[in-house]
Amino acid sequence: MICLTLMELSIEADLQLLEQNRELIDMVELRLDMLTDPMLIHPDIVKLKFGIPSIITYRKKVDGGKYQGSETYRRTVLYKYSKSGFDYIDLEMDTSFPEIEKSALDNGTKIIRSYHNFSGVPDNLESIIRQLASGPGEIAKAAVFPQNSSEILQLFEIINKIKDIEDKIVLGMGDFGLPTRILYKKIGSILTFCSISDNSGAPGQLNPEDMINIYGVNRINKNTSIYGIIGNPVMHSKSPILHNRAYRRAKMDAVYIPFLVDNIDSFFKLALFLNISGFSVTVPYKVDILNYIDERSPELESIKSCNTVVRNDQLWKGFNTDLKGFLKPLLSLNNLSSFEKCAVIGAGGASRSVVFALKSIGKEVSIFNRSINKAKKLAEEAGCSYFPITSLDLLYNFDLIVQTTSVGMTPEDDETPLPGYKFKSGQIVYDIVYTPLKTKFLKDAEISGAITIGGMEMLKIQGIEQFEIFTKQFFPQEEQKENF
Ligand code: NAP
Repeated sequence: MICLTLMELSIEADLQLLEQNRELIDMVELRLDMLTDPMLIHPDIVKLKFGIPSIITYRKKVDGGKYQGSETYRRTVLYKYSKSGFDYIDLEMDTSFPEIEKSALDNGTKIIRSYHNFSGVPDNLESIIRQLASGPGEIAKAAVFPQNSSEILQLFEIINKIKDIEDKIVLGMGDFGLPTRILYKKIGSILTFCSISDNSGAPGQLNPEDMINIYGVNRINKNTSIYGIIGNPVMHSKSPILHNRAYRRAKMDAVYIPFLVDNIDSFFKLALFLNISGFSVTVPYKVDILNYIDERSPELESIKSCNTVVRNDQLWKGFNTDLKGFLKPLLSLNNLSSFEKCAVIGAGGASRSVVFALKSIGKEVSIFNRSINKAKKLAEEAGCSYFPITSLDLLYNFDLIVQTTSVGMTPEDDETPLPGYKFKSGQIVYDIVYTPLKTKFLKDAEISGAITIGGMEMLKIQGIEQFEIFTKQFFPQEEQKENF
């Protein structure tokens, strides 16, 4: 079940939010701690207006809520709500209100016994969850905040150990925890929460539209194949839209999830644990990932930048689809002869694909990078010249300038790796960053009369090829024209 957490300041606003999302969700959680005065509201009428299963929660600040008043008042309010037959009432692990428990049970309301930890995944989480589940008929709920890749692995391992507990809700907050929210059915949680705003004190909640329209969380089951993208940052990625839509169109039982990763080692353990079938690789892991894969496709031997990894016959096999993705938009807009001298800004993983792509069509390439040693290394491997990124004067000599650094990517929309550079009219300027669609780099180029190309088309083409490597099926025709 997808549960929308209602966190508006008035019950009228909560009900309006429910109406706007009714089609997408299965139930609601009413957060009394967000309301100005929940005592003034008539719970029977609220329950009637909800018309779908609901949870009553009155969360204290210490547990991630907003309530800071006395326990006596909280108890009085919860008692009032316990008599109206809501489906569930959330009572924290350390909350002991026997009269509320009795009243709730007498009125057909189940108790969710909850535990929150905002600083990590405690080693004794398994025993905490077992304790939460020990109350007769009570549903255990544990919300913890994994701080890194190793803690999200630990959380999944603990979830695996408590398979015998039938009625439970276990979730990881924050970006590291997102996979637990999407895979809630696979891990045996009875529901997953979503919200519209992010003032819930439960960071990382998706909105109902993304839950349904991007991830299709209610369709995920024990057999669903898992794909994903690893990176840091990664939440900006549009790849989940492209891949999930294509799976749906191709009627495949598969889901594609963003994995925030700060340690590749831990991610590979998680990948085996979750039986991940394949994944995309983004900033900053395209080069480092090579140390972890078992087989390299032929193009990887020279490019040494891997954006696609697939599990085949118990082996991890790496590919590069960025090279093709980069060249196609460039060559569809420009004749091969309209540019000879090419400047590539950046010397990271994506830059490697761009440099080798341009070399493969016989172009003269120069690399401009902040860390000169990285520029030198790549230039020597690919047979190019290299310069510090500050050599702005030299850039006037180039027909094509390709921006491959992560500078200017949302949220740093106002940044450019070439502050102060005035582009030449007629210069071809290509920024492979795709969030925002038009970067400051491209805006500056447009003002000077340059011919510009953004990174979205590249993203799409590399993603289409990636889909075909992952699934061994053609990318659905109808999806080829779609934008996202
Ligand atoms: P990466 O391996 O981490 O490389 C980052 C590059 O950015 C390095 O050259 C780095 O320079 C440079 N850089 C970072 N911060 C900088 C700063 N403040 N000033 C100057 N240079 C800076 O990342 P990547 O995988 O190559 O990805 C780079 C970007 O390309 C990302 O935004 C990614 O989303 C985008 N991309 C788009 C597509 C697409 O399909 N459109 C495909 C691939 C990548 P140093 O060497 O000095 O650290």
